[in-house]
Amino acid sequence: MAADGMVARRRSDDQGRRNRREPEPEPEQQLSSYSSGYSASNKIVKYGVRDRDNIVGWAAPTDGCAGSQDKMSLPVALQGLQDASEASEWACRCACAVLENPSAGRIDMETVLQKLKSWLSPSPERQVITQLIAAAIPAAVVRAVRKFRSEPLAAALGCVVIVRSSGSGEGAAAYLRAAALEEVVALMDRHPSHGGMQNVCLLVLCGLVKDATAARQAISLGLVTRVLRAMEATQGREVQLNGLSALRLLTENGRSQRLGVQQDAALKAKVDAALRAKVAHQYDTTICEIADDVLAMVTPRFKEELCWHWESGFCKLGPRCTYAHGRADLRPQ
Ligand SMILES: [Zn+2]
Repeated sequence: MAADGMVARRRSDDQGRRNRREPEPEPEQQLSSYSSGYSASNKIVKYGVRDRDNIVGWAAPTDGCAGSQDKMSLPVALQGLQDASEASEWACRCACAVLENPSAGRIDMETVLQKLKSWLSPSPERQVITQLIAAAIPAAVVRAVRKFRSEPLAAALGCVVIVRSSGSGEGAAAYLRAAALEEVVALMDRHPSHGGMQNVCLLVLCGLVKDATAARQAISLGLVTRVLRAMEATQGREVQLNGLSALRLLTENGRSQRLGVQQDAALKAKVDAALRAKVAHQYDTTICEIADDVLAMVTPRFKEELCWHWESGFCKLGPRCTYAHGRADLRPQ
C-alpha cells in the first residue's frame, strides 16, 4: 500500500539522518524548547533530567515509550500520526513521541489524544488496547494529562482515552501503574466546580477500580471525599449517576477490616449523597437503583421490610424511606 511505502521511506530517512548525525539539535536549542514547554523547573526533574547541563536524551524518561530513545522529531511524529489510519506499531511510536516530547504544545497533545480516541471508537478492540500497552502509551497519556492539568479540554481528552482503553483488566492495571488515580485526585482538586471535568474523572475512577486492591488504593488517596464533593457541587444526571457508580464500586470492592474505621467516617456522607441523588432524580430508575445499592451497603436492613405507611396509602419520606415501597422494592435479607 502507498501508506506503507511512505512509512518505510520515512523510517529509512530517519535512519539515514541518524547515521549522518544530521539535524541533531544543539544543546542550547534543546534547552530553549524545554523552557517553552515547561515553566516550572520541578517538571523537568519529573521527566528524568536533573542536570540541566547534561541535557542529552531529553525525550526519553527511563520508563518511557518503547523506542523513544530514537528521539523522533516532533514534526515527523505528528506527520506519521496524521497519516496513520489505525493503531499500527509505527503509529503508536509516533503517538508516544508526541506525548513524550517536552516541546509539544497543547494543540499537538489534543491532536494525538483525538487520534488515540478515534482508534478506540466506537468500541475499543482488545487488540488495539494490547498494542497501546505494548507501546507504553498509558504512562505517556497520564504524563500528558499531568502536564496539561490546567487545560480542561486537553486533560478531559486524556481522561476519555484512559476510560476507553481501561476496559480490560490489563488496560486498567497499566494505568494504575502509571499513577492515573493520583492524577484523578489532582484533576478533581484543580477543577472543583467544572462539572464536565468532574464527570470525566468519575468515569476514569469507575474504569480503574475493578478489584479490592485498586479500590483500597483509591480510598487511601481520598477519592471517596472527592466523589462526594463532586456530587454535592453538580446536581446534573451524569455526575450523580457516575458518582453513585463510583461510590458503589469503592464501597463494595474496598470493604476490609483494616479500613473499617475510615469507611465509618464516610458513612453518613454516603447516605446523604445517595438520598440527595434519589430525591433529585426520583423518576430515574437507573439512578435510584444504584443509589439503593449504595444505601443497602451502608444502612442496616435497608428495604428488607415493607413500609407500613406506603402500604396504607402514603409515605411522607418518599424516596428517603429506608423501607420497601411495594414488593418489587424489597431487597433480599
Ligand atoms: Zn416509606
